[in-house]
Amino acid sequence: MKKQFAVIGLGRFGGSICKELIRQGMEVLAIDQSPEKVDEYKDIVTHAVVANSTDEIALKNLGIRNFDHVIVAIGDDIQSSILTTLMLNELGVKHITVKAQNDYHEKVLEKIGAHEIVHPERDIGIRIAHHIVSKNVLDYLELSDEYSIVELIAGEKMHGKTLIDLDIRAKYGINIMAIKRNENINVSPQAHEKIIRGDILIVIGADKDIDRFEKQLLDED
Ligand code: ADP
Repeated sequence: MKKQFAVIGLGRFGGSICKELIRQGMEVLAIDQSPEKVDEYKDIVTHAVVANSTDEIALKNLGIRNFDHVIVAIGDDIQSSILTTLMLNELGVKHITVKAQNDYHEKVLEKIGAHEIVHPERDIGIRIAHHIVSKNVLDYLELSDEYSIVELIAGEKMHGKTLIDLDIRAKYGINIMAIKRNENINVSPQAHEKIIRGDILIVIGADKDIDRFEKQLLDED
């Protein structure tokens, strides 16, 4: 059976969540208090309805508790985001993901039962800053305060060397999870694998070790 999602708030964030869920074959109920927004999405999602999500009766009438996952994508109106999350939790929704605007908002959301809290602007800001600081960094995913997964362009100093020659795990304490070469991705690179120009490495490790690796083996000169 298809998974059923409800997305509340059809701004840029909620809107792109809706489109991607549909692209992945999911069923999506889109909710917004603005008739214009609902009109914009009515032909994109499975159902689109005009409703104020802080209205408990409206949420009940939509059968919101039967959805597998509800995403609260209300942006600036923090009060509405909090009230909506509280009600979804009280109505027994199993999985609630909420977009937080700032750290205070996140603290409150944690207390009132959001199961997952996302910070899209902050996360994208961090990724872009990494890319700006080091031109070799293509993408960056924070796993915790200390650990990340980073996608890097292999530096000149690595070209023609094997993973054994570079001895990255022993020297830096990080792991190369995968190597992208043109359209191919090798998800279990072997020790004798030679790095060539244009290779993209996906590495996992502690931020301080990845930093050291970037400074020594990438082309920063
Ligand atoms: P973004 O930053 O992702 O673009 P916005 O703050 O611009 O987010 O958009 C949030 C959307 O949420 C708007 O379309 C707004 O009409 C909708 N919204 C805000 N409060 C409620 C509410 N209580 N019920 C339903 N929709 C709401």
